Amino acid sequence: MEAVIIIFAVFLIGYLGKALLEKALDKYNAYQYRQYFNLSEYLSQYPCCETKSGIKCFKCGSKSIKPWGIKSPVDKMKIHKCNSCGETLYRTGF
Ligand SMILES: [Zn+2]
Repeated sequence: MEAVIIIFAVFLIGYLGKALLEKALDKYNAYQYRQYFNLSEYLSQYPCCETKSGIKCFKCGSKSIKPWGIKSPVDKMKIHKCNSCGETLYRTGF
């Protein structure tokens, strides 16, 4: 009987620890995400990057920009990176 209680306690602690860790990781990801410019901030910082055919990279001028989800490809919080030089440009989402 004691073994069952110990096993249950170990699983409970593991489950709660995992939940706390995931919550802390979500907060950290949201904090990191907010460090980047949103699109309007990016364009006010680099007005020359707004062109008739889209947004371009302030560093290399490439218009090939890809959104990356913070946690996964379907994440609503996305950072947009230049496909040419790899520079992180701005965020969209929240
Ligand atoms: Zn670039």
